Amino acid sequence: MTIQSVLEFADNQRGDNLNALIEFLRIPSISTLPQHQPDIERAANWLADRMRSIGLDRVHLIPTAGHPVVYGEWAEAGPQAPTMLVYGHYDVQPVDPEDEWISPPFEPTVRDGNLYARGTSDDKGQLFAQVAAAEAFLRAEGALPVNLKFFVEGQEESGGDLGPVIEQHSALLACDAVVISDDCFLNAQTPKIATGVRGCAYMEVEIQGPRQDLHSGGYGGVAHNPLQVAVEMLAALHDEQGRVAIPGFYDSVLPLPEDEREAWGRIPFDQEKFRQQEVGAPALWSGEQGYSIRERIGARPTLDIHGIRGGFTGDGQKTVIPANVVIKVSMRLVPDQDPGEIARLFEQRIRQLAPPTVQIQVRTLSRAYPAVVDHSAPAIQAAVAAYRQGFGMEPVFVRGGGSLPVVANFIRLLQVPVVMMGFGLPDDNLHSPNEKFNLDHFYGGINTSIHFMNNMASL
Ligand SMILES: [Zn+2]
Repeated sequence: MTIQSVLEFADNQRGDNLNALIEFLRIPSISTLPQHQPDIERAANWLADRMRSIGLDRVHLIPTAGHPVVYGEWAEAGPQAPTMLVYGHYDVQPVDPEDEWISPPFEPTVRDGNLYARGTSDDKGQLFAQVAAAEAFLRAEGALPVNLKFFVEGQEESGGDLGPVIEQHSALLACDAVVISDDCFLNAQTPKIATGVRGCAYMEVEIQGPRQDLHSGGYGGVAHNPLQVAVEMLAALHDEQGRVAIPGFYDSVLPLPEDEREAWGRIPFDQEKFRQQEVGAPALWSGEQGYSIRERIGARPTLDIHGIRGGFTGDGQKTVIPANVVIKVSMRLVPDQDPGEIARLFEQRIRQLAPPTVQIQVRTLSRAYPAVVDHSAPAIQAAVAAYRQGFGMEPVFVRGGGSLPVVANFIRLLQVPVVMMGFGLPDDNLHSPNEKFNLDHFYGGINTSIHFMNNMASL
């Protein structure tokens, strides 16, 4: 098999691949809005048809508690060849505020070398690069160098838990590595391979004080205001060193490997540019002492307050003591914190902080495991080489700050490395108006995926 013919095929196919992606993007498969249910089905069927037409076998929809997974495979590379599983998602985020889009979100438009539409970068365009790479092998050479499986979900943006589906179908999904293209470069010159995702425990606390809302003239100073209780409790969740002040919170946190810290330290990072362009605040918070900004984002656990509901928040004034307040808090977790255990420690801390003047209810809204991938794994090294071959660039390893439960599920349930090989750019406007995907990154992503499969085959 010569990879040259495959790359040539992909080059000649650029126009067709762009047109097919545009067709896929026209389907408004917004998974969080029930009225788009028929579009979700259309997108799933469109993808299944595409998989069949390029020559994948056993293409079918796997039902889940939410939207179906699209599965397809090519298993003729033989038992000696490695098996690679490609994960992606065909659902997209809502588009509001729609009037901020320069071209309509579901009318894909090319401007300045970028393709604009909802889902271009997250994740239809990046996923389609993998599909196009498989097609190039099958059409140019009649075969793939690896056994390949596609597992493409439709509820990534609506937070569905795929753990039970992966567990139930673990025999079907058995593989040597999972590859995910649903991420972005560090900057235009530097691809990044994410070697970690943080876990998450999202909590809601309801604070019930008086039976009904009271007037502060009549009861202020006597009834313990639940808003005051809320801010007193929330203020006690960090200590003066910026650490999360929940007993036991750090007990199972694995120390950061020194070689990883050194490697991160060598990645250029302009703190002032980061403050101005990304954060936009007058100054950065000093956060947890003893850790760099990159370490605090990806490799250390954090706690954030997301909302306080209660009392009067309209224009003007109202001297109310609210009866009921709800607070929302999430904690980003790192290996080996267990989200269930962290939720338990959080509840214990909240109950310890709660005064006898209120009643408290604590609810866990969602949980996700953290995960790390060993960057010396052969599949990761195959990805490093693929970026050199496909983009002519040297990737760096970074631990991502976000939570991707599916990554942790693959690592935990299939016991394989996950290669997070993204093709987007940091300014792709994911989840925002004017989402885009750079066309050079689309075609470069196809080439990189071709090289990756080829590199995997020679491991
Ligand atoms: Zn995504």
